Amino acid sequence: MPCKTVRILTLRFTPYTGEQALCLAHRLAAAHRPACIFTPNAEMAHRATRSPAFSDLLNRADLLLPDGIGITTAARMQGTPLPRLPGIDFAEALLRTAPPSGYRLFLLGARPGVATKAGKALCRRFPRVTVCGVQDGYFAPEMAHSVAAAIRAAAPDLLFVCLGSPRQEEWIAVHRPPCLAMGLGGALDVWGGEVKRAPQIVQKAGMEWLWRTLRQPSRLARLPALAAFSARAMWDAHLTKGEKCQKEG
Ligand code: UDP
Repeated sequence: MPCKTVRILTLRFTPYTGEQALCLAHRLAAAHRPACIFTPNAEMAHRATRSPAFSDLLNRADLLLPDGIGITTAARMQGTPLPRLPGIDFAEALLRTAPPSGYRLFLLGARPGVATKAGKALCRRFPRVTVCGVQDGYFAPEMAHSVAAAIRAAAPDLLFVCLGSPRQEEWIAVHRPPCLAMGLGGALDVWGGEVKRAPQIVQKAGMEWLWRTLRQPSRLARLPALAAFSARAMWDAHLTKGEKCQKEG
């Protein structure tokens, strides 16, 4: 296991390979204690520079996955490469490699009906997965505690929280469900058939963000954050190239 962390702006990533990260995730799921995996992209890393509380919340995760091409490009620029591990692909790999006893999965988020469709699709693809509950992401704030209670009663091994960032990370940090929780943005929309992922060639080129922006022009509003992230990452790389690997702890 790697013993160093790589700092991208204010976030600290451990440079796990996909296999090491999966191994850790399965161990966390088996423990049935509050644990979380967050999947920062450039926009989240930029938000973290403006909010120390959000930055701390992300850095306290059991595992931070370098989800976006912005993070891995910044890592490469400063001479401390990180493998890219998109959250949605990692979540699928986790379900694909579920233990023989299977995983109980709770799906939280997206518009009404989408999580149910996503659950059916995931069970078809991954026979060792049982969906033990779903809840859409448009409940009133005063319902948050009863949603958390319903999740605890369903006793999942895994909880996928798809409320958008930062709401999903904050929800997980406040409610600390006794299972492995992952913040997964728009993944339920993809699994539920609402949104199509970019073709493989676009994904491999790291251009999925551009594909999504072109198909959902409302995402144009996110571009200034991406520009700010890129400028800050280039400046950081210029200043401290080669000095970003720190001893863990
Ligand atoms: N969402 C939700 N409740 C809200 C706001 C958003 O459940 O109050 C869902 C939304 O329906 C979508 C997901 O959160 O399924 C956010 O998707 P987005 O594409 O913005 O996330 P990304 O993948 O870019 O992080």
